[in-house]
Amino acid sequence: MKIIYNENFNFDLGLLKHLHPFEGMRFRKIYDRLSQDNGIEFLSPEEPVSDEIISEFLSEVMLQLVKNRNGVLKALEFPRLPFITQAYLERKVLSPMRWGVAGTLFGAENALQSGQNYWNLSGGYHHAMRNQMEGFCVYNDIGITYQQLLKSGQVTGDDRILIIDTDAHHGNGTAHVFMDNPNVVLMDVYNASIYPTSEYTRDRVDIPMKLKPGTDGETYLECLKIALGEIQGDFRLAFVVAGTDVLSSDKLGGLKLTPDDVAKRERLTLSRLKELAIPAVITGGGGYSSDGVDATVKAVLKAKSEGL
Ligand SMILES: [Zn+2]
Repeated sequence: MKIIYNENFNFDLGLLKHLHPFEGMRFRKIYDRLSQDNGIEFLSPEEPVSDEIISEFLSEVMLQLVKNRNGVLKALEFPRLPFITQAYLERKVLSPMRWGVAGTLFGAENALQSGQNYWNLSGGYHHAMRNQMEGFCVYNDIGITYQQLLKSGQVTGDDRILIIDTDAHHGNGTAHVFMDNPNVVLMDVYNASIYPTSEYTRDRVDIPMKLKPGTDGETYLECLKIALGEIQGDFRLAFVVAGTDVLSSDKLGGLKLTPDDVAKRERLTLSRLKELAIPAVITGGGGYSSDGVDATVKAVLKAKSEGL
């Protein structure tokens, strides 16, 4: 297990952080805590994902929308304040997100080559589509990564790819991106009572696990185990969206996990992938509450101590 981190992942929002339920510096906080453990190896992509790669993935309309201040503000759920210009959004949010996409691509390439797991502290933008951005997601890093892996021949269209989404929210963007690709198998464990509720994308999920609001850690982990048990067959690579918005402290997720439960969740997922001999790239996903940092740190240390 190696950790992917770059200082540019962080959303350094200054005053704006008080207007959004959001810990934009969480990546640095996780990095600082994990750096105290000598045994952890950190890697980083050299640059953010290029405009060329972005334009290969996004639709023409999205390429225009992403340059539109009000469109981006809406996707980010930010208030329309005068000082938030498009240049500010580009510098403070869009550029960090492109670094996050680069982290997922970098992790996937390394996982394929080495057969090991790589954990990108950023990424997991599972609400973003080719033609739409929403839910604080602009660029679907898993979709972009898959497209680049295909283009470079590192995977073929016949290779089966697994996406395990354990963020509290349904991964509607990812389901939309892979709507017509049966070789990409989706497992999604989510609170069924919250955004996004589109049946069109929910129906695309191969292994769905719909949870009730208020689900506690014990129940969550039992349900996760059942879903993981349904994964069958060979896969070339797995992506995991490990959002920490499943925590009780999260204002949006509506679930009741503790940081220790999150660590157990990642252990269950990675143990199952190891059993199936599938290398994985783990991505950050949502979750910007106060103890989200603690949960990820615990999860990484637990996974590492068990050789996952
Ligand atoms: Zn989420």
